[in-house]
Amino acid sequence: TFDNVEQAPPDAIFAVLNAFKADTDSRKINLSVGAYRTDEGTPWVLPTVAKVEGTLKNVNHEYLPIDGNPVYNAGMRDLALGKDSIAIKEERTCAVQMLSGTGALRIAAEFISKFHQSKTILVSTPTWGNHNAIFKRANLDILPYRYYKAETRGLDFEGMIADLEAAPEHSTVLLHACAHNPTGVDPTNEQWAQIAVVMKQKGHFPLFDCAYQGFMSGNLADDAFAIRYFVEQGFECLVCQSCSKNFGLYNERAGCLTAVLSTKEAAAAVLSQLKILVRSSYSNPPNHGAAIVANILSDASLYKDWEDDLNTMSGRILSMRQQLHDAIVAKGATQDWSHMLKQRGMFTFTGLTPAQVERLTSEFHVYLLKNGRINMCGVNSHNIDYLANAIVEVTK
Ligand code: PLP
Repeated sequence: TFDNVEQAPPDAIFAVLNAFKADTDSRKINLSVGAYRTDEGTPWVLPTVAKVEGTLKNVNHEYLPIDGNPVYNAGMRDLALGKDSIAIKEERTCAVQMLSGTGALRIAAEFISKFHQSKTILVSTPTWGNHNAIFKRANLDILPYRYYKAETRGLDFEGMIADLEAAPEHSTVLLHACAHNPTGVDPTNEQWAQIAVVMKQKGHFPLFDCAYQGFMSGNLADDAFAIRYFVEQGFECLVCQSCSKNFGLYNERAGCLTAVLSTKEAAAAVLSQLKILVRSSYSNPPNHGAAIVANILSDASLYKDWEDDLNTMSGRILSMRQQLHDAIVAKGATQDWSHMLKQRGMFTFTGLTPAQVERLTSEFHVYLLKNGRINMCGVNSHNIDYLANAIVEVTK
């Protein structure tokens, strides 16, 4: 029956990881993974997560409700919108536990496809590779909007605004809440305000992908600025949240879809429909990761400890940005590397060409994505000197 099924290509990111694993050179460096690493190059269980994990009580293996753990959902909603959000006060929000950020995007896409008047979704060029695949599977019509300007290695703000203006009215616009993946380029707060003006004029609907809150700056409110600003401006929106990076819970698949609607009745109706989408997709979500997060978010002291963990991670990334930048410059870089300091979050969009990337890998055993994206967490005090040399060599 399935004799004619064609072999699909491997996932680009996982393919780089496999090549890294197969390399036997001791100097090899993996800058491709989308996960935090310590200065020793190892994964990090957040101390607050480890502490809570040891105290989880009453753990049985009963089903969770379709929409997940209610304490978790309330905590995640507050995290995205801010406890004092007008939308929460007016009871016009709902939040549903999801299979991490990817699961939230998938259910959000299906919801939009089924219920929104427009099937058009605007997606930045470039964006996280999975966005396009997810939206395509939900039968949305993808329209790219300009975002990254290669000449400045920064934001193409004029291009973005022009494309939002030119798009059909009532389109959905996918916005990275902070720490844009793969570019590390975010709008300033003033630019967010202008984006909101255009989106309001056009009746566009914001779909936020929030995968790096707190992980970017260590400050949870700063990293949620865009979401909270849009809600203050009276927008309805969907927010896809991931606990992979900011809680280090990658394989626990803890995420959330928070919705802001214009009325309490709409919030109840949307919740009921989201539950139907969940029920027919995977019935109900897993417990463990969400239970850990629920404990942390609902306890002031643990919350504070978690913020310290976030500062540890974001601080190390910032320090690696500065140190790698300085080392490349000190070794006689022939081009400007200030974008390494300006870009934010886990990734630097280096501007390295595919040929330079190829040389880094084949000659220097440095593994990164073809588009030149590097994960700053893969940089550490042990490999920084070697890496800076390699980058200077291939860019001479
Ligand atoms: N969105 C963006 C922009 C991401 O970078 C990622 C992970 O790398 C995700 C969503 C989803 O991650 P997860 O499904 O692990 O929460």
